[in-house]
Amino acid sequence: MPASIVCPKCDRKYTIEEYEKDKFCKECDTLLSVEAGENKGTWRDLFPYEPYQPQIEFIEDVINTVTKGGVLIAEACNGFGKTIGSLSCLLPTGKQIVYATRTHEQVRQVLLELETINKKSGKKYTAVNLASRGFLCINQDCRELPSNEATEMCHVLRKSGECPYTHEIDQAPSRLPAILGRKELVDEGKKRKICPYFLARRMAKEAKVIVAPYPYIFNPRIRMMTGLDLEKKILILDEGHNIDQVGQDILSDTLTERNLSAAIEEMKLIGKSPRYLNRLGEHLLRTTSDKPKLVQPRKLEEDFEKALKVGIDTFIEGHAQLVESIRAKKLQGGNPPISYLNGVLEYFELIQTSQKNKYVGLYTKNYFGAPVIEYRCLDPSLAVEPIVQLADGVLIMSGTLSPIATFAEIIGQQNAQQKVYDPIQKSDKIKMTIDTGVSTAYKERTDQMSSKIGRALEADLKNVKSGALIFFTQRAYMGRCIERWTKQGIIKTRNGLTYLGGKRFFREGRDARQNRDIVSTYKMAAVSGGAVLCCVFRGRNSEGSNFPGDQARGIFLVGVPYANYGDPLVKAQIQYFDREKRGLGNKWYTMDAFRAANQSLGRGIRSKDDWCHYYLFDRRYYQQRNLLSKWAMGDGVKRRASRERKQASFKKFSDDTIIEL
Ligand code: SF4
Repeated sequence: MPASIVCPKCDRKYTIEEYEKDKFCKECDTLLSVEAGENKGTWRDLFPYEPYQPQIEFIEDVINTVTKGGVLIAEACNGFGKTIGSLSCLLPTGKQIVYATRTHEQVRQVLLELETINKKSGKKYTAVNLASRGFLCINQDCRELPSNEATEMCHVLRKSGECPYTHEIDQAPSRLPAILGRKELVDEGKKRKICPYFLARRMAKEAKVIVAPYPYIFNPRIRMMTGLDLEKKILILDEGHNIDQVGQDILSDTLTERNLSAAIEEMKLIGKSPRYLNRLGEHLLRTTSDKPKLVQPRKLEEDFEKALKVGIDTFIEGHAQLVESIRAKKLQGGNPPISYLNGVLEYFELIQTSQKNKYVGLYTKNYFGAPVIEYRCLDPSLAVEPIVQLADGVLIMSGTLSPIATFAEIIGQQNAQQKVYDPIQKSDKIKMTIDTGVSTAYKERTDQMSSKIGRALEADLKNVKSGALIFFTQRAYMGRCIERWTKQGIIKTRNGLTYLGGKRFFREGRDARQNRDIVSTYKMAAVSGGAVLCCVFRGRNSEGSNFPGDQARGIFLVGVPYANYGDPLVKAQIQYFDREKRGLGNKWYTMDAFRAANQSLGRGIRSKDDWCHYYLFDRRYYQQRNLLSKWAMGDGVKRRASRERKQASFKKFSDDTIIEL
């Protein structure tokens, strides 16, 4: 007899004793049997559609690599069915799946796909959204607070028994919905007087699929706090093109004037002298000038010790015990027991415990002009490698990983299986034209060049149906182009409305709310008569926003989005990779630019039947077209030399295009 019995419908596990007491599943009333756990079926029992050949290839690769404990890095376009394909072939393994993704919308999508699988197969695979406290808390006294304060407040409310919602949940409540998204967790929590946040944590112990945001996966502290153990689990990192940056961000920290001032106030609150923190504050002011300055970690440490006049260990040791007193005092005063001193100490602990040859310090100013000292991790593999080691099979997938070999190398997974899959969209519907007569490379970024691009773009826009997006390399450059195109009449005003290429003209908003309003007006205008939206690469509308169908039938890239070479952190990153392997720094720099470009192109294709035409205004795209995602090229790349250039040098050609397949 097996050690446990698994329900064939919902996969809930039972001990032999439980099985002998009641032969029916508590969740779904299915009759249990000793053999039930053995027959898991195949992906074909779960995949709800007739699969296309590239999908079969993808699924077979996942089976051959991930289910055997390996790592697969997979690039396939939007609408390919990566989520449903991977779940269909991983669920039958019987292993728990941790599915990491970025936005709430993406979480919703994963849960919907699982629901489709359940409907098709008649099974009842369970899933839970292991979301943050801020997203799930239903206690008014806590839920409105900023996240760090909410954590502390929740702790206090629980300790004092003032939160009316049960948080100690030993036994999984019975008859919960199989799929627990935010709505289900909150509804059940309210109905049963259970905290949805702790309910999610409890259900994560046995749900077949745990859907969690990236920080839950990469941050070892959060993993420990939430009890999310990756051992023996299959890990899917969706939207995987972000993992290098997310991993580095999680392993980095910043000392700010604001945190120091708040920590100084805390010391005063408990009647302790803040002299060491004052010294750090003076150091911060002394060391930051308008010009950001890189500093090696050893030197950074020395600078701090000189400023403190004691060793960093002594500083940490002398202050660590004060954190609890600060929290207690704040509580007495009716405030959330958050400690900024604790944040300062964590920053110094990171400096002390990190691998110094993989970090760099930066004296700089933040967005508001206040001095800060960043301590930045330069090696994404430090974040990726440990979780790959823990999990029992990893799938890293995205629509934009090209150039995939460089991506694998920089995250330290060069030995992983890597593959780019053919799109399932009809390739004749996707067209790419690269204008090689223009470039926004620094030396060529003149007013004449922007006029030339503007005129070509105006002509092309007339051939684009409905909506079109234009991506610029920087906000300032976008502003200059718009100003010039307006002066030259390329952007026209009629009856108080502006137009470009005969389409209503919009420009993305600066903050989230303003942008949301502009995008929603743009979308309505795009589908009802045609509109164009100007955006910047790596901005609000290049990632996480969707423009399906007529909302984007044309996407224009103005320039290649290389990161600012003058940015000291970019320089430090290039130098770091070059130290690791000759030439890797430049490969990373180029990969980063093309990844941002591919990401923007991806806004136009959101499903299998979607289509879009791409116009790339920069000859550097043509020179390095092997770095563009395969799905974006459709039947091939059409090269076009702009008219002026052709007339000057290539008069004898009547055709200005070359088709490259
Ligand atoms: S226990 Fe749950 S409901 Fe209560 S404060 Fe904490 S997160 Fe909110």
